[in-house]
Formats: sequence, structure tokens, C-alpha cells
Amino acid sequence: MTDRKILKTQCCIAGGGPAGVMLGYLLARQGVQVVVLEKHADFFRDFRGDTVHPSTLQAMSEMNLLESYLERPFQKTDRLSVVIDEKEIPIADFRHLPVVAPYIAMMPQWEFLNHLAEQGRDMPGFTLLMSTQAERFVETNGRVTALEAEGPDGPVTIEADLVVGADGRDSVLRDQSKLPIKDIGAPVDVYWFRLPRQSGGTESLGRINSDGMLVMINRGDYWQCALPFPKGADEQIRAAGLQAFRERIARLAPILADAVDELSSWDDVKLLTVQVNRLETWWKPGLLFIGDAAHAMSPVGGVGVNLAVQDAIAAARILGAPLRDGRLSDEDLAAVQKRREWPARTTQAAQVMAHRRVLIPALSQKSKVHVPFALHLFQWVPPLRRLPARAVGMGVRPEHWDTRLDRLADAA
Ligand SMILES: Cc1cc2nc3c(=O)[nH]c(=O)nc-3n(C[C@H](O)[C@H](O)[C@H](O)COP(=O)(O)OP(=O)(O)OC[C@H]3O[C@@H](n4cnc5c(N)ncnc54)[C@H](O)[C@@H]3O)c2cc1C
Repeated sequence: MTDRKILKTQCCIAGGGPAGVMLGYLLARQGVQVVVLEKHADFFRDFRGDTVHPSTLQAMSEMNLLESYLERPFQKTDRLSVVIDEKEIPIADFRHLPVVAPYIAMMPQWEFLNHLAEQGRDMPGFTLLMSTQAERFVETNGRVTALEAEGPDGPVTIEADLVVGADGRDSVLRDQSKLPIKDIGAPVDVYWFRLPRQSGGTESLGRINSDGMLVMINRGDYWQCALPFPKGADEQIRAAGLQAFRERIARLAPILADAVDELSSWDDVKLLTVQVNRLETWWKPGLLFIGDAAHAMSPVGGVGVNLAVQDAIAAARILGAPLRDGRLSDEDLAAVQKRREWPARTTQAAQVMAHRRVLIPALSQKSKVHVPFALHLFQWVPPLRRLPARAVGMGVRPEHWDTRLDRLADAA
């Protein structure tokens, strides 16, 4: 039997996604000893949140990370529109937002994570353990004091003042904690797939007609496509056959008529089972949840990554000094929830409204689709397009970084 290795740190984070890596990096910047565990050997996974919004880009600029981040390949989206029965209607214009980067940066999530991991590599307090899967937390006298994990060299226990569950929507730590979850539910699931893109052509993101809805994200030489459908209809759609699926996509977006043959099997189509839920309490003594583990979001608005990063920034700001100075209290953990619960709740409420008012009607059209009056307004009055841009691009309560927190670390 392999001996269990014991590590000691101030903060141990389960999950190397946007929430976990950002939190680990920002805590290390403040002089906190951090260990981040990621169960995979690398960050390379397709079709995760790739939409980095202006609010997140702004925070990265405040961290002096933006310039080097944008050296990686990305596509810039500064306007969004929807095509309803071949009529294009502009709905959002990000160019007027008062931020350094007024656009959505479409960049694969592994680039975002690799960038942060590279920045962290030279920081003495930052340890990222890949291929290391968190299995359970250890509780002593009602307080979480350690995390047990399985790494490439065998079992490891990481003793820490704080364990953070940033292990995503299927969090094992959340299951173990038995903290109550409010399940809001979602009426749709989504297929994700990619199709080759010729240069030129439409930049439009949403296409709606009597075949449903298709979201097309320009990724340079390919389209990243999302096709929402009523929850539970996956089996029925697959039973109708791949050819029927291809034909439906071609009817939704005639520009893809030639490209759809690239879908050679259902393996090319990834199913995202949409969940919308949140923990009622995000913490217990010695343990905190952030990101999708605290609140799984609908894909509407592409906000998941951004909320996860904003949670991490807020948590790092609130917890950095108490962790570093060994005076972390339950009040600090409650303060993180207090700060971030409202943005998560408000965003989820907006997503639920979008499910009811936009997605469900778009998916149940059987004949000609009529353009709602409100959308005509965006076409006739261009300044109105700034409102959805602000709601999506900046979100609710965008978080900021203050480099004076880094200086505290220098002085410590
Ligand atoms: C198909 C798909 C498409 C999406 N598209 C978008 C989009 O366009 N825009 C957007 O903003 N959001 C999108 N999202 C949502 C977005 O990816 C998430 O909201 C965001 O990544 C949440 O970040 P997180 O760090 O909280 O969790 P995650 O990104 O889920 O990260 C959790 C990490 O923890 C690791 N992990 C899990 N369990 C363990 C364990 N036991 N031990 C160690 N490591 C563990 C996982 O491997 C993962 O790396 C999409 C999600 C999916 C699935």
C-alpha cells in the first residue's frame, strides 16, 4: 500500500477551473500559501466557457494581466445581433462601455487557465497539482481541516486553514457537505458542435426560425454552434437521425448548408445538460464554495466563466489578509457569500426570464416567427443597444482588483 503523503498549506482549492485557478493565483499574490488541485492532466477541454466578458477583461487589466493575456489567439465580438427569419436585428453594442476592452474576447478556456497558471508558476506561494483528484474533506470537531486527494504518486492529505470547493457543477465536496441546494431547473438542454467557417459571411450570433434556434459564435476558422432544445428531447432527436439533424441546422443557417456534412457522427455533438441551481449557504467552518459549485448557471448570456472569476476576485479580496495572518473566521466566509450571492441570484433570475420569454417561445414556433416589438426598438434606436451590452458585458456587481493588496504581500 502506498503511504499517504501529508502536505500543509493555508488554503487548499479543489478544482482548477476559472474560479479555482483565479482564486489561487490572487491569494498567492497576497502572500498566502495555496495549493490548487486539478483532476485532469491539462486544461485542454473543448466547449467550456470561452466567452471572457468586458468586466473580466477590466479586472484582468487591473491585475496587469490583460496585455499578456490578449497576446494569445482570440476573436473580438463587439456587437451581437439576432437573425429572425432571415431578418437581422442588432441587439447589443459593447463599444461604448467605459472599460479598457469593450468587447467579448472569445478565447478557448484552456488559454485563460494556462495563462493564469503560467503567471502563478513563479510565485512562491502558488502550487498547482495536476492529475490530482479531491476525494473528500476531513472534519475535526465540526471544522473542515484538510482535503484528501489521489495524485499521480498516490494518496495525499492536504491540511489547510481553508478548503475551497471550486470543483464545478458536479462538485463532490458539495455532495459531501450536504449543504442544501435550491434547484431552479431549466427547460432546455444544449448541443454544442463546431463547423468549418469560411472567411466573411455573417457575424450574427443568434438565428431563429420555425426550426428553433441556433447560436453561432465566430471562432476564426470555425463556428462554435449551440443548439438549444427542450429538456428530455435528446433521445428523440438522436432517434430521428444525424441526417435530419444536419438538415435542421442547414435550415436554421443556410450559410452552414455545405459545412454540416462535417458532423460525421453523434460523437461530434456534445450534450450540455443545463442546470440552474445554487447553494443556500456557501460555507461551513473551514470550507467555502465558489463558482459553478456554489451556483450552476444556464448558458444564456455566456456568463458562467465571468461569474466564477468574479467570485474568485471577491473571495481573494475578502480572505487574503485573514488567511495570510492566520486569523480567518466564519464571518469572513459569510462575507464572501454576502458579496456574491446577490449577483448570482439576480443573474439566474434574468436567465430564467430569458428561458420563459425567449428560449421556450423560440423553440415552440411551428410557423413563421414574428419579430417582437421590443427588438424592433433596438433596430430603430441604436443607443438602446448599449443597455443589453451593459447587462451582459458588465453583469451585476462587477468585481475589481486593487494592486495595493499585492503590496501588502510585499510588506508581509
Ligand atoms: C459545454 C459547455 C459550454 C459552456 N459555455 C459557456 C460559455 O460560452 N460562456 C460561459 O461563460 N460559460 C459557459 N459554460 C459554463 C462555464 O464553463 C462554467 O460556468 C465555468 O467554467 C465555471 O467555472 P468553475 O471554475 O466554477 O467550474 P469549472 O469550470 O467546472 O471547473 C471545475 C474544475 O474542477 C475540476 N474538478 C472537478 N472535480 C474535481 C475533483 N474532485 N478534484 C479536482 N479537480 C476537480 C474540473 O476538472 C474543472 O477543471 C459552459 C459550460 C459547458 C459545460
